[in-house]
Amino acid sequence: MTDTGGTAVEGVRVVDLSIPVGPETQIYPGDPLPAVRRAMTIEQDGANVLALELGSHTGTHVDAPFHFETDGERLEDVGLDRFVGRAVIADVTGHGDREPIDWDVLSAYEDRMAPGTIFVLRTGWSEFYGTERYFDHPFLTAAACERILERGVRTLAIDALNPDETVVGETEERWDVHHLVLGAGGVIAENLTNLSAIDFEDPLLCMFPLRLAGDADGAPCRAIALDVAGATRPAAP
Ligand SMILES: [Zn+2]
Repeated sequence: MTDTGGTAVEGVRVVDLSIPVGPETQIYPGDPLPAVRRAMTIEQDGANVLALELGSHTGTHVDAPFHFETDGERLEDVGLDRFVGRAVIADVTGHGDREPIDWDVLSAYEDRMAPGTIFVLRTGWSEFYGTERYFDHPFLTAAACERILERGVRTLAIDALNPDETVVGETEERWDVHHLVLGAGGVIAENLTNLSAIDFEDPLLCMFPLRLAGDADGAPCRAIALDVAGATRPAAP
């Protein structure tokens, strides 16, 4: 089981969907660089303690509505139910660099989209994490996003940097999907990884962010998939 990062907790398999956070973490261009330093050591202080300096959108993380909406909910005000739910994983791995993901390929999942479900775009782009190509991910069209929201989905997740096209440095940055989802009171999880390790039906996703106080617009999270159904499934003969 350890080959895919999974472990067993009382019969429930856990798959880690998070990228490591440290100075090497690939961030959105212009975001603060993560800094991790040792503030205390066992030798000098009796315990090891790190000091962290991170942007709120470092690594695998969630966006709260306040990220793009001035009057949007701050992270602390977002119900925890937004960060946990049954995942509907759309396989869009056939999409290439900067290719739009439109409703025609997502409509097959329409019946499973519902309030409380987490809609996951599996682009396969986590494979390019750490390289320049990571910025050239496929992206969700505004029209497709509207259809997903119409089904009541309020949590969107992606194994890439951004569900919108990443067009850093151009005068016209495009944030349609962010505005649509966050404007509807939803949340977005970005930089998921290891989705290919979910080889079971009906995964339960948990992506709980740090409980940052005040005007928090998002926070890193430890995203995991749980095979809850598998714990009660009879073992294979
Ligand atoms: Zn973000």
